[in-house]
Amino acid sequence: MATWNPWKGCHRKSEGCKNCYIFRANERKNIDTNVVYKTDEFYKPIVKDSKGNYKMKSGQLVYLCFNADFLVEDADKWRNEIWKIIRTRKDLTFLFLTKRIEGFRIGLPNDFKENFDNVVVCCTIENQQRADERLPIFKALPIKHKQIVIQPMLEKMDISNYLDDTIECVIVGGESGKDTRPLDYNWVLDIRRQCIAANVSFQFRQVATHFIKDDKPYLIQRQYLCAQARKAQIDFTRE
Ligand code: SF4
Repeated sequence: MATWNPWKGCHRKSEGCKNCYIFRANERKNIDTNVVYKTDEFYKPIVKDSKGNYKMKSGQLVYLCFNADFLVEDADKWRNEIWKIIRTRKDLTFLFLTKRIEGFRIGLPNDFKENFDNVVVCCTIENQQRADERLPIFKALPIKHKQIVIQPMLEKMDISNYLDDTIECVIVGGESGKDTRPLDYNWVLDIRRQCIAANVSFQFRQVATHFIKDDKPYLIQRQYLCAQARKAQIDFTRE
């Protein structure tokens, strides 16, 4: 596993961004997250060592832009160059999340459909409104590997109309931190039911700091959020 942050900085886009961990971390360091800038690792996947080998080892999953939204508007002018790097490193798999799927085609290479099987795109949604806005756009895009990330899940949702064999996985998680919004376990189970009915893989990634189960509220410490979700043993792998 590797990380690649060709730019940093973002702007809040929708309800799910309210308690964005990047904003919170930067506020503690007095950094203005709204300034989007290129980093010195812009070319990271194609940097070579003294023997002429790529420093980023082949065969890895690369988490792309985990300090920003890959499709943030400020980076539209830089993205075409990133696609060229991704095309060069077909031996790596690149995965990114976005709340801006409507901007996906900006700067997209003409051969995307044919030559970018090494890209996994995760469309992030947080409530019914954002699901109904973003998922029809997502479904129509020529992306080979599509995942839906519902995190932070903010309400009960029906995404059944968007689930079919073009969606590889749905991942659900709650919000973490002080003064954050609750996650009701019934909402999670409901999404799981929709995934099983459509034969789409499902993962429960983390509970929320404020977690509700059987109508009872629980306060969960950060270090147990993922472990508690795993303990539920409700992940489903499509047949
Ligand atoms: S889009 Fe993502 S990175 Fe940007 S503010 Fe929202 S949660 Fe944070």
